[in-house]
Amino acid sequence: MSVVIVGSINQDVVARVDRIPAPGETVLASSLVRTGGGKGANQAVAARRAGGSVVAFVGAVGTDPDGETLRGALVADGIDVSGLSQVDGPSGMALISVDDTAENTIVVVPGANAVASALTPAQRSVVATAQVVLTQLEIPIALVREAAAVRGEHAWHLLNAAPSAPFVTAGSALLPSVDVLIVNEHEALDVAGVDDLETAVAALAPRVRALVVTLGRQGSMIVCGAERVNVPAFAADAVDTTGAGDTFCGMFAATLAASGRAPESVDAALLADAARAGAAAAAIAVTRTGAQDAVPFAAEVAALIERTHA
Ligand code: ATP
Repeated sequence: MSVVIVGSINQDVVARVDRIPAPGETVLASSLVRTGGGKGANQAVAARRAGGSVVAFVGAVGTDPDGETLRGALVADGIDVSGLSQVDGPSGMALISVDDTAENTIVVVPGANAVASALTPAQRSVVATAQVVLTQLEIPIALVREAAAVRGEHAWHLLNAAPSAPFVTAGSALLPSVDVLIVNEHEALDVAGVDDLETAVAALAPRVRALVVTLGRQGSMIVCGAERVNVPAFAADAVDTTGAGDTFCGMFAATLAASGRAPESVDAALLADAARAGAAAAAIAVTRTGAQDAVPFAAEVAALIERTHA
């Protein structure tokens, strides 16, 4: 497999609202959509639609009907699900509200994503075949650690430390197993335990081979050893930013896999190429509603890059 995503898979239930309710307030939604989501599954779809990569998803669904629907959606996208296990109980679910300004609030009910405390033998074998292993923090941390440990000698480990969790800090033993740490600004501050970005970068960058901080419409910042590069975002009329970060990460991972490079040879130019592709895919995703539904295909991303540089 060229890209293996170890992560969460959720049934997203998305309500469109005029404005996000304040605590204690009730608002009426104008529409409700059920769709595939979960950071891991979204990133798998983004990596797969990037084209060129064989993509596998390692995770768990429940024994409820949502589990079969979610598995079927990954298969329909051409994603290998030999590492998708089924555990007793409900699948993960995310309750999402999106308002007219494309702002969102999300409540995740982990369900099947939180059950396992170790990878199954089948899941370990899938991870061992990866060129790039991409993890996030919507699953038990033991699974992230194990995925990092069983990957091949020259395989990349990309950790998208989202949502930020108290057990992943700048001093965490997990970080030296990470080749590229990808965080948004809020997560960078949380993981570093500080309140300004420069201090966070100074604390995190030395702990990993490379650090990528995504900055929404401001693009992203790459720190790789002594090199630092800012990669601008592509202009977009955003209607729903849900999944922008996941689309970025999936495309980023697929671009690294396609490069054929090993983590030992990483440099800022390679990461900037991957971040540019991620930014283009994310810029298209934010113009559409939903998470997986919004993820663009390779041809659309190539067309945006060509239009922008024309
Ligand atoms: P989310 O949690 O909403 O999925 P995130 O907070 O993890 O996203 P962001 O930094 O918001 O991640 O976005 C990731 C990347 O997506 C950015 O680096 C940028 O390239 C692109 N992006 C995000 N929002 C926009 C936007 N409004 N217009 C254009 N590009 C965007």
